[in-house]
Amino acid sequence: MNASLVIKELRQWDVGTVLENEPLSRHTSFRIGGPASVYVQPHSEEHLVRLLDWVYSHQIPYFILGQGTNILVSDRGFEAVVISTSRALRYVRVERERIEAGSGVLLTKLAHKAHQAGLQGLEFAVSIPGTLGGALVMNAGAHGSEMRNLVEQISIWEPGTGVRILRGNEAGFDYRQSQFMMHQWIALRAVMKLAVGDMPVILNNMRHFMDYRKRTQPVGNANAGSVFKNPQPNYAGRLIESIGAKGWYVGDAMVSPVHANFIVNRGSASACDVLILMRRIRCHVFQRHNILLRPEVRWIGPGEGGTEGTWENLWYREGGGLQAPCE
Ligand SMILES: Cc1cc2nc3c(=O)[nH]c(=O)nc-3n(C[C@H](O)[C@H](O)[C@H](O)COP(=O)(O)OP(=O)(O)OC[C@H]3O[C@@H](n4cnc5c(N)ncnc54)[C@H](O)[C@@H]3O)c2cc1C
Repeated sequence: MNASLVIKELRQWDVGTVLENEPLSRHTSFRIGGPASVYVQPHSEEHLVRLLDWVYSHQIPYFILGQGTNILVSDRGFEAVVISTSRALRYVRVERERIEAGSGVLLTKLAHKAHQAGLQGLEFAVSIPGTLGGALVMNAGAHGSEMRNLVEQISIWEPGTGVRILRGNEAGFDYRQSQFMMHQWIALRAVMKLAVGDMPVILNNMRHFMDYRKRTQPVGNANAGSVFKNPQPNYAGRLIESIGAKGWYVGDAMVSPVHANFIVNRGSASACDVLILMRRIRCHVFQRHNILLRPEVRWIGPGEGGTEGTWENLWYREGGGLQAPCE
């Protein structure tokens, strides 16, 4: 990809903010990640769709970034057009029991909007720090609820097809995954159906969930939430705690003493530090419990698509497959 040519073209259209070699550590909750060769924040949904059509037809690699709260970006950065939804897709509309929102809206904001409208069902989202788009892709959830329970329809951009509507039950929602990854769909907006509720009860639930988080998760250190998925019916945090990993560290990446399934960046952790620590945890858990932990955090880097299979390749490539002794 010739970044200079891409930037020149995009600036001619006035697509939005266009930056060259933008450090992605500025746009991830881990505060980790090398530069994106091109970083774009389109002005509007229309600009975003035009940009997607253009990069797709020119076979230019691209990546959609929400709030960056569920990704680990390579230290080498990403040779691609990284497209942020945070400006173009931030509207919210409430109509009776439905909320329609752009995929760049923060989940926290959506939960508060629902409360203001006396609608229940989004309380669980009040302390999940990502965008609606990221939450759809990941089928984000907490406290026994998840996105799939609410989503009625989604407006998506599909490679080669363009914009179309998807019904909620066509999105393939499953535990912390969906068909978005498989088909490289981009979420533009979604309609969620909630239920009329009692405002004080809704507020009380939201406060309860926020308090619970403050007590049980590391607050104040950069992190990307749960690193591994729960291998149901087990909990990744409990398995990691059982091998005594709380406090383990590589460089500035440390297993949180507060919650074992969180890795925190104490200052200048690199993606490589996190990767080595994850591999070590996974290896010890496997040897002790014969359970293979699968990452919830998505890996973003050169030549990688962020799938679980790619994590396997990464670990093997670095010489640390399951048969290798735990470091
Ligand atoms: C402190 C902390 C607590 C957390 N707690 C929870 C929790 O309780 N439950 C939970 O489920 N998650 C939790 N998370 C993880 C994270 O917040 C969620 O997965 C969130 O939904 C990710 O949204 P995002 O906008 O940050 O996505 P990003 O991290 O920016 O992206 C995640 C993936 O979604 C893709 N994506 C983003 N937007 C779009 C779009 N519009 N269209 C297509 N693809 C898109 C990206 O390409 C990437 O592959 C937590 C994270 C942190 C830091």
